[in-house]
Amino acid sequence: MKWRESDLAALACGIVDFVLPPRCVVSGEPVERQGMVTPKVWASLNFISSPYCECCGRPFEFQMEAGMRCGECLSRTPPFARARAALAYDDASRELVLRFKHGDQTHAVLAFLPWIKRAGAELLAEADILIPVPLHRWRLLRRRYNQAAVIARALSRETGIAASLDALVRSRHTPPQGHLRAKERAKNVRHAFEVGPSGRASVEGRNVILIDDVYTTGATVAECASALLKAGCRQVDVLTLARVVRPGGGA
Ligand SMILES: [Zn+2]
Repeated sequence: MKWRESDLAALACGIVDFVLPPRCVVSGEPVERQGMVTPKVWASLNFISSPYCECCGRPFEFQMEAGMRCGECLSRTPPFARARAALAYDDASRELVLRFKHGDQTHAVLAFLPWIKRAGAELLAEADILIPVPLHRWRLLRRRYNQAAVIARALSRETGIAASLDALVRSRHTPPQGHLRAKERAKNVRHAFEVGPSGRASVEGRNVILIDDVYTTGATVAECASALLKAGCRQVDVLTLARVVRPGGGA
């Protein structure tokens, strides 16, 4: 009998279930299957839905015509074509993101993969390749895994779209951005990414989706998109689990 990858993944989840009883990836309460969230946690999450900016995906507070762009994208067109996110980044989703990022809870990807797929359906329909925002190797060593790469790999398995986990690399280490403002973030990541010689062949002439966990100011994905376009990508879209939404302000 030949095992398919999906069978092996199901088997692996079964083994995890057997060893660790399934618990909600946010609250820790028991749930039916590994990677699920409780109905209470589900109800607390803010899923992003239209209307939103056609370009950066920032939700509009009022009904707008389809295809409209926010003021920020009108005044300065980002290098990426479209950015979409499943969740608004708030207290509820922050807990999910932090546990996924730092808590060794990579199986949480099972819970939010369907949400990302739904948010990025339009982008995924045109994509040739999925590329995660890379971590610098020092940070990768400390954290042991790159959360963006975990999402990209799972999404690739689920959709059949190829993923290249090392096409894009960090050309230099950048200090953590947590406390930085938009302008400082942009400066912090300027020219921090590049497509290596071996990655060039996989991105040239392709429609790429950049994958990350959170879209904060857009500075990091903009810088990554510029590096990919410079290397010959046809188009770069961005898909993230969550997105910072500032009411009435910029994104
Ligand atoms: Zn916008």
